[in-house]
Amino acid sequence: MSVSATLTVVLATLSSVITAYVAHLISLPHFHLLGGIPVGSVLIGTAAATGVAMAVRLTSNYDVAGFRMFAQLGGVTAYLGAMLLDYVAGEMRGHRAVAVPDALTVLNYVRVLVEQGAASITAQLPESIKFPPGVAVWLGVVRLFIEVLGTVVATGWAISYLTGVPFCWRNRRFYELKDVVESSNVGAVREWEMAINQRRPIEARALLARVRTGKVAPYERSWVRIAIHQCPICLAARVRIEKRRRAAFGRVRTSPADELQFDAVKGSALLAT
Ligand SMILES: [Zn+2]
Repeated sequence: MSVSATLTVVLATLSSVITAYVAHLISLPHFHLLGGIPVGSVLIGTAAATGVAMAVRLTSNYDVAGFRMFAQLGGVTAYLGAMLLDYVAGEMRGHRAVAVPDALTVLNYVRVLVEQGAASITAQLPESIKFPPGVAVWLGVVRLFIEVLGTVVATGWAISYLTGVPFCWRNRRFYELKDVVESSNVGAVREWEMAINQRRPIEARALLARVRTGKVAPYERSWVRIAIHQCPICLAARVRIEKRRRAAFGRVRTSPADELQFDAVKGSALLAT
């Protein structure tokens, strides 16, 4: 495994385990606003994401999509871990011997969670409104579903935010990683930046194509990386240019060189390929 993968696994596991334990201590999985909004699970997802975000930052990796999948798994694991700890604590309070829960016990526990959820929703409603039992159970199921979904969404957002992915306020979404180009043609990168600054879009596009062809050979000591994040709807973009060079033990050092912001018009004109 590469250094970044190992670091990700270690930090993600740590943040998931710590989050699960703390969440259990302060009953976070059962914390809701108005009976439905899963504030607690959103906090769990955010906390579980920090480990992966740290790994992304420490290794200057741009495979945020892959990391996000991993972090979401960590978020859900943290949530389930907190639930499991709650369950074990409940069993121990009841002076029952804690055994490995079988399918029936798990189902019973889920049923209790659904009932608790339904009860907390009906508690918010005026006395006059009474749901038939079937509807109340469905409300409980939907709430549990929203809760797990809340963990997943919160993890994804936290990862994007903590790793510095820009947010498009107009379309209310995070930019997507459009391209990562590693190029040994440092001169072409410099010319490309100049063409952008001097508003020569046709030349800029041709230069970007030249940058792309400058493959990095294993013997090369230093090169340049361009990471393009773009809003999929309005096409506004942020381009990061970084210097990379080989260090001891096969490691690659990354240092920021330049950052360019493109509005929607510039982004669609300069980055279309
Ligand atoms: Zn946008």
